[in-house]
Amino acid sequence: MTIAETPHSKLVTSAARLRAAGRIVIKIGSALLVDPESGKLRRHWLEGVAADVAMARARGQDVIIVSSGAIALGCRHLNLPKGVLKLEEKQAAAAVGQIRLSHAWQEVLGAHGISTAQVLLTLDDTENRRRYLNGRSTMGTLLKLGAVPVINENDTVATSEIRYGDNDRLAARVAELASADCLVLLSDIDGLYTANPSTDPTARRLDTVTGITAQIEAMAGDPVSGVGSGGMRTKVAAARVALAAGCSMVIGSGHVERPISALEAGANCTWFLADRSPRQARKLWIGGSLGPKGRLIVDEGAAKALAKGKSLLPAGVRAVEGEFSRGDAVVVVGPDGKALGRGLIAYASEDARAIAGHKSGEIENILGYRGRDEMIHRDDLATDD
Ligand code: GLU
Repeated sequence: MTIAETPHSKLVTSAARLRAAGRIVIKIGSALLVDPESGKLRRHWLEGVAADVAMARARGQDVIIVSSGAIALGCRHLNLPKGVLKLEEKQAAAAVGQIRLSHAWQEVLGAHGISTAQVLLTLDDTENRRRYLNGRSTMGTLLKLGAVPVINENDTVATSEIRYGDNDRLAARVAELASADCLVLLSDIDGLYTANPSTDPTARRLDTVTGITAQIEAMAGDPVSGVGSGGMRTKVAAARVALAAGCSMVIGSGHVERPISALEAGANCTWFLADRSPRQARKLWIGGSLGPKGRLIVDEGAAKALAKGKSLLPAGVRAVEGEFSRGDAVVVVGPDGKALGRGLIAYASEDARAIAGHKSGEIENILGYRGRDEMIHRDDLATDD
């Protein structure tokens, strides 16, 4: 079940929404993790977040953390001054801080018997379809094995042209990549306000947003936060990406001991509600916006399996037409010549031709490497219903 698949009448509280989510991404800003005065990690607070993560995992939910704080932590250890740093100083600070950050997560999650996986991403990893598919499948495997991925931008190699730049945007891309249905942005502000609440006494917090209109964009104003690089503008930009991916998003305050529990207990926040599930969003994207590069002609058995929502295995593929790379969109055609749908193919055309008609167990022998069992995984397939 996902948030978008649960009847709306049942999802009126934060607790109901958070509990309905199958996969949650929690983004934590630098200002929460690292004390702005001392530059030290706020260990006790982190333990509270870990307890919340353990609570969600115990309910059967997948959790992914997007954690900032590497640069802030590294600055303290390298005695770099606060304030404006050169790019290479930031990159050096990130290298020193990231190792401490991951270690801290490993300790606090380990106390609950949870394995932590460090994943560092650059913009290319979510923009390039091949790398995107690899990242997606690794993330799925980590979650299946019970680990909690702790993600940050790979600041040490990412220069300005190839940066996400802020972890709000990164978190939204991660939510999309992992087909999460809930993104929690923990921040120093408890939601989206109609105006800047620190300067405008008439500012009012919104409970729910259902679409990113020009009016909502206007409310985001300019960045306000000190330590992190995000402000309300990057949060609304993140909401746009998340909603398009079928992922609902909530902005809540991280200035409480157990921020997820606090949200469930009714703390102030703003919800951005998606109107589709991640699966529906993905199918729309595959079916609508990607130009197909080739065709796979499948047999009767495969056509039936696809109609039942199954993956396409190489054994059911009779012919492969066109030249394409791994991750490209292809049209799947039934034995009668009728298009059955489109999907992202796990093999380049040459390899796809070589394994067509063969059992998945033979792939390694034929290609010399062990690729995916499926020619097109069901999550990457948009069938014409
Ligand atoms: N990736 C940066 C860090 O870990 C944080 C970026 C942000 O604050 O949004 O220090």
